Amino acid sequence: MPKQADPHYAMPEHKAWSAAVFERAGGRCQAPGCTKAWPEHRMFADHIAERSDGGADFDPANGQLLCGAHHSTKTARARAVRAGRG
Ligand SMILES: [Zn+2]
Repeated sequence: MPKQADPHYAMPEHKAWSAAVFERAGGRCQAPGCTKAWPEHRMFADHIAERSDGGADFDPANGQLLCGAHHSTKTARARAVRAGRG
């Protein structure tokens, strides 16, 4: 399901949240041992506790900055856990 379909991501609150997460991380991936950083790599503000699992939407404490690889891994794992396969 494409993320763009979720109106949440178009909300100004989400933009402010992702900017706060980005600033706090200094533009660097926060996955342990990862050295990828903006602007060499595209970065993603990620909810540590997914919104569909009851995570806080706009609390920067529930955010982390991830590179594309770590973001896909984390998203896939969260989906598997939710489906009962994790
Ligand atoms: Zn990474």
